[in-house]
Amino acid sequence: MDALQKLQESGKLKCCMCKTTFRPDENYYTAQLPVKANWSYPCWGNFITKIQGMAIAYLCEKCGEDDSRRNYDIVLAVEIEGQEVRYHDLAWKGPMCVIQN
Ligand SMILES: [Zn+2]
Repeated sequence: MDALQKLQESGKLKCCMCKTTFRPDENYYTAQLPVKANWSYPCWGNFITKIQGMAIAYLCEKCGEDDSRRNYDIVLAVEIEGQEVRYHDLAWKGPMCVIQN
């Protein structure tokens, strides 16, 4: 079991759009946010463009599958350090890349 799965099962992961806590067996989505993170995990980057340290949001099944909303209503970015999960308010409103885990 990986660290993220452990956090999900302990009820510490919630949707960055509707703020609902993930069910232990829920499939969730990852959104690559076009904003810089000032923490180290989780982040995304692109080795071709050399972009690094960008923030991530996790979305529940319901929000991740709703194409009409998911690009514009993400309100939180997630930071994880060990077993601690912190959420950061997100000012960004606009298109972003959402992928299913
Ligand atoms: Zn949600």
